Amino acid sequence: MKLSLIIPCYNEEDSLMPLYNELVRVRDEMSSYDFEYIFVDDGSKDNTLSIIKDLSKEDENVTYIAFSKNFGKESAMYAGFCNSTGDYVAVMDADMQDPPSLLPKMVEILESGEYDSVATRRLDRKGEPPVRSFFANMFYRIFKHVSNVSIVSGARDFRLMKREMVDAIVSMCEHNRFSKGIFGWIGFKTYWLPFENVERVAGHSKWSFWKLLKYSFDGIYAFSDKVLNLPFYFSGFLALASTAPLAYFIYYWATHSFWMGYPALTASLILFAVLAIGSALSLFIGFLGSYVSKIYGEVKGRPHYIVAQTNKKDIVKK
Ligand code: UDP
Ligand code: MG
Repeated sequence: MKLSLIIPCYNEEDSLMPLYNELVRVRDEMSSYDFEYIFVDDGSKDNTLSIIKDLSKEDENVTYIAFSKNFGKESAMYAGFCNSTGDYVAVMDADMQDPPSLLPKMVEILESGEYDSVATRRLDRKGEPPVRSFFANMFYRIFKHVSNVSIVSGARDFRLMKREMVDAIVSMCEHNRFSKGIFGWIGFKTYWLPFENVERVAGHSKWSFWKLLKYSFDGIYAFSDKVLNLPFYFSGFLALASTAPLAYFIYYWATHSFWMGYPALTASLILFAVLAIGSALSLFIGFLGSYVSKIYGEVKGRPHYIVAQTNKKDIVKK
């Protein structure tokens, strides 16, 4: 059995050696497994790449993939998944916030055969700025409401997966990637392993507040089209509101002579017309939104189905 570890790295020169030493320790602990370390250098500007290259010279299990510029962690993870060859594949941060020491336990859970993946969830957000924790919690709450994919609060990208699951991830070739959503969308049985939050071993977080905010919107765009339904609700609201001036108009029409009620009649008729036209326009925007949502779904080219188990050889994947 072979284990692939994917490690996206962006300016991680100080974290790499402590991480590598820890990985070697874990490998010695799990001597019955072959290991493959895939370091993906995401356009680092420091010595990250040369350190990884040196490691690859000394250790034949080290593979490196260096990007031509910074494409982001999502692209780095995808490159790792696409190029992994192991039966089990894990993705972990370079800063040791995803403790490699959890790997033996994770492998043991997969070996029991009941689960397709072991995902990790940190129990607390120790050491994180309170503002960031507040917005992170808010994001999880909103995401749960607007999308059909469930993601767990505190979930890390650190998880170990069987080959079938990795193949499913690779088949999700969309460009606007949000891995937490992808892991949820493809299904499979996942065991959640909680652990206490660890602070990064060196360097600093690569995520600024604005980068994270943009990433959370990307997550919602990738897994929810509920916003596109808003014009329908708005149209309904305007249609309902337009009944008030209409009722007023009919009442005045019936109870007053035309000349007496002239200003009130005109005003209520204009208000009715404005609301009714607004409602009709919103309705059409809603229809347009529905088509946009369908087009977006098609453009992403996600698989129609994902097979977890079968006894058929050469199963057709679509
Ligand atoms: N990372 C990356 N590309 C980026 C930003 C981050 O490959 O553009 C890597 C980074 O080197 C680390 C992991 O993604 O291995 C998580 O990043 P970080 O520790 O900065 O995020 P945090 O743990 O603060 O959420
Ligand atoms: Mg980190």
